[in-house]
Amino acid sequence: MTKEYDLFIAGGGLGGLLCSTLLSKEKKSIFLAERLPFFGGRFTAMDYEGFQIPTGAVHMIPHGKKGPLGQILLRELNLPVPIIENEYFTTWYWPPKKDLIKHKHFWGIFRALTRFQQYYFVIRKLLLKARKSDQFSNTFHEFLEENNADPEIFQFFNAITGFALSLDISEIPTAEMFRFLKRLYERGRPGVPQGGCKTVINALVQYSEKNNVNLNLNTELIKLEIDGSEISSVACVDRRNGEEFDFCAKQYILNLGHPQINKILERSNLPFRLPSTPVARGGGFIFQTDASLLKRSTVAQFPTLDYVKGAVEPTLNSSGLAPNGKTMFITHQVFHTDNIVKETQKAREEIFQAFPDLEEKNEICIHTFHKTWPVNFAVQGHDLPNHSTEISNLYFVGDGFKGKAGWIMTEGVAYGAKQIVINILHKNN
Ligand SMILES: Cc1cc2nc3c(=O)[nH]c(=O)nc-3n(C[C@H](O)[C@H](O)[C@H](O)COP(=O)(O)OP(=O)(O)OC[C@H]3O[C@@H](n4cnc5c(N)ncnc54)[C@H](O)[C@@H]3O)c2cc1C
Repeated sequence: MTKEYDLFIAGGGLGGLLCSTLLSKEKKSIFLAERLPFFGGRFTAMDYEGFQIPTGAVHMIPHGKKGPLGQILLRELNLPVPIIENEYFTTWYWPPKKDLIKHKHFWGIFRALTRFQQYYFVIRKLLLKARKSDQFSNTFHEFLEENNADPEIFQFFNAITGFALSLDISEIPTAEMFRFLKRLYERGRPGVPQGGCKTVINALVQYSEKNNVNLNLNTELIKLEIDGSEISSVACVDRRNGEEFDFCAKQYILNLGHPQINKILERSNLPFRLPSTPVARGGGFIFQTDASLLKRSTVAQFPTLDYVKGAVEPTLNSSGLAPNGKTMFITHQVFHTDNIVKETQKAREEIFQAFPDLEEKNEICIHTFHKTWPVNFAVQGHDLPNHSTEISNLYFVGDGFKGKAGWIMTEGVAYGAKQIVINILHKNN
């Protein structure tokens, strides 16, 4: 057995890299193993003819500079990653009146949408119940039914959760929905890091490297060894040559997602498994155009479409995400069934109807996310906490371990990473 590290991290996605960067700042010796030949997991991009095609995230940081991720990147680590906020919070495509309804603040939607003025006080009253959100045990769909909400209010909220969480409102617990809405209200508009999500990953990698983190690509965790109540060592494999090696650390963080973690727990003969949580599935299209479709940076919402719930054009925030003179328009849809091919075809029809200027030649690719590469390893509201394993030196980070705090996607990943860092530093003092 070779050198003992303070910390071993499996998984070089955003969650693993945030932990390695924050703890490297505290002078911890760290070994990080990533099984793929690149860092960033579902929060980076691949270059295709000058277009930065996402591996997952559509380049948006949900609460821009004001959420947990923006705060860690800009305030705590002081990284050179400018976050360019959207000009508008959301923009609504609500036929038959096709004109865009834009608003800059979350509450603005109720004032801006003429058709919502009659519901403004109803929705406001519903949302004010957020203060007592923990008392609700039903889904948000049931909650709206119980409150006799109008069909358009269902469509309105479904568009929001469909885009932001890849969920229908029948899949989200009311309590978590209220926490999520409260975050939208308090924290504000999304933003795009200049250069897209890959810039964030590169900055974290560089910071970690500078602080001597041992970062390893093509390196897969295969087994944990337990001694009494603690993990004592891990076994990894170098995927390029099949060579296995093991070593010890004081603390262990897994940034892998539930299915992969359960596989490793089983292989390691550990006495517990993670409860299975439903994953959030989804996908969309990436189009290139010469002229911008949305004109202003925003999240476009489609409440009356069945499949596609929203779209963004991150090139409006950061033009370098596409070649000169080109834009990148990305749609997002929820998958309701396992027939992903059929659902994708339906979504394509909807998109071409909603944007008649688009043609097939504009389509760069379709991307789908499910099973072991989903939108979210746990649907919002079913996340597990990240520091409550039965093993005192083992932690989980990532988008299945955001707890129940209403944080969306990478904001929850960042919040979870911060909790682990606090926990580890507290234990050491
Ligand atoms: C279509 C889509 C759109 C999205 N849009 C947004 C958005 O705009 N904004 C936003 O905030 N979020 C968005 N998300 C969600 C966001 O991408 C994820 O929440 C985030 O990237 C999850 O990061 P993570 O570190 O938890 O997991 P991952 O990125 O999955 O990282 C886990 C890493 O672990 C590695 N790994 C797995 N097994 C092993 C092993 N045995 N040993 C070593 N390494 C291993 C994997 O290769 C991977 O790199 C989107 C997701 C999708 C799919």
